[in-house]
Amino acid sequence: MKKVGIIRCQQTEDMCPGTADFKVAKAGKLAFETIGPCEIVGFVSCGGCPGKKAVPRAKMMIDRGAEVIAMASCIAKGNPIGYACPHFENMRNAIKKVTKDIELLEWTH
Ligand code: SF4
Repeated sequence: MKKVGIIRCQQTEDMCPGTADFKVAKAGKLAFETIGPCEIVGFVSCGGCPGKKAVPRAKMMIDRGAEVIAMASCIAKGNPIGYACPHFENMRNAIKKVTKDIELLEWTH
């Protein structure tokens, strides 16, 4: 079972506890289908707009054993209210610099 660290939108914390992320990661479904069932070893927020804290937080989860980093669907897809993060591309590109060979999922469900 692979270890995954999930980064979520801080703006979404008031309206979503992340239940679907835990379900699909554990079941190895949707974004996790090619990886299989995963254990969540970290579930952090981006730290608030414009999401710069997502970079050191991704690194921290890798240092603590994450083999995959996932950006929760609240970021790229705007779940659950259809309001996607305007900083998604910058954040993803910056996170990629620290994830390097570690797989980065851009959505979860
Ligand atoms: S930077 Fe994006 S993901 Fe982070 S709180 Fe702002 S809108 Fe949400």
